[in-house]
Amino acid sequence: MRPTRHLYINPSQRIPLLREQKSPEDAPQELKASKTHTHPTSTSTSTSAPLAGSAKPPDASVYFIGNATTIIEWQGLRILTDPNFLHAGDHVHLGPGVTAQRLKNPAVDLHELPPIDLVLLSHYHEDHFDKLVEEKLNRDFTIVSTPHAKGCLTSEAKVGGDGDGAFRAVHDLDTFESLILHIDGSKQDEHDKVPVVKIIAMPGKHVPPGPLEAANNLLGAVPPTNGWLVEMAWCPSAADVDSPLIDPGYRIYISGDTLFVDELKEIPKFIKEQQALARRRHPRSHSTVSDGDDTRIDLMIVHLGGTTIPGPHMPLLMVTMDAKQGVELMKLLNPDLTMPVHFDDYSVFLSPLKDFKTEVANMGEEWRDRVIYLNRGEQFNFEIRGSNEERSYTNIQDTVRY
Ligand SMILES: [Zn+2]
Repeated sequence: MRPTRHLYINPSQRIPLLREQKSPEDAPQELKASKTHTHPTSTSTSTSAPLAGSAKPPDASVYFIGNATTIIEWQGLRILTDPNFLHAGDHVHLGPGVTAQRLKNPAVDLHELPPIDLVLLSHYHEDHFDKLVEEKLNRDFTIVSTPHAKGCLTSEAKVGGDGDGAFRAVHDLDTFESLILHIDGSKQDEHDKVPVVKIIAMPGKHVPPGPLEAANNLLGAVPPTNGWLVEMAWCPSAADVDSPLIDPGYRIYISGDTLFVDELKEIPKFIKEQQALARRRHPRSHSTVSDGDDTRIDLMIVHLGGTTIPGPHMPLLMVTMDAKQGVELMKLLNPDLTMPVHFDDYSVFLSPLKDFKTEVANMGEEWRDRVIYLNRGEQFNFEIRGSNEERSYTNIQDTVRY
């Protein structure tokens, strides 16, 4: 496993996401959400309504575009996940003899996106990184993905065939490897701690283990996937940015296109080990932000859909979690909140969201308020523990609280 890597990102000096844009100012500067959601219990301090009076406003967000495409934002840093901007009626190629039709439009088109800092790609599959995106994206744009995806994206033969050229800023993370994003130019609070976002590759299996996996490895039919931990965290100071000193203020787990497999049991173990190491190295810092449980997952963004190939006419092999596996994963990882994505955009998704809702209802009372359902174009706002900044707050319209 390679040591933690570091990337320095300055949101005030972005480069354009698209080749046709001369500067990031050519993009709309904001993305309007049709509705915003908040969740008081997802923070350590918000026991009262977070939107009232002088209460702290949420300072981070996830915006749902469609399929597994979201924008995660904190401290001015914007991460675009699994960019897929095809429209209803368009087709993707998902392996030899496997095509799927998109059934829903994304909430916005590529040219309507605000300036972005980084693309986080779970795997190189056309419903996560489609041909339109591949053609339009700036070749110097920063992409973080799997070693397999890096091999494809940086290959002239694979993506440069039409004179498009290979991507030049792709960073790969293998399972449990990590990358720290340093947010240059961000405001520091009175304690001089600095915000960082740590991305850690999590295990995932896109095909069931066993002979099928062996055959797939040989054929290269279904690409390998990562899951991700995205930790919005604090460092004691800019000069002291060492991985074990990082104090997570909010932890997002993104499943990627995985099935519910034994490897996922490593995730809670990994988080526990990481935090135990952090507490040993730096006991004081790690008591300031966490409210007791510094190993919890605050938000799980889970890829569901029960993707079945070759397709509905011949449902042979399921390659992403269905509703039942989704709730199994909730029980395993016990996230404070779960947000389903990747459930109705393509014709090969055979496990609809209503099945997941039924499974969640059957889990019992204590789980029912711990799932957040975003429609395309809606946004979830949340607060990062340790954000001490006080700001005046104007009321958000159409806010749904969980
Ligand atoms: Zn996939």
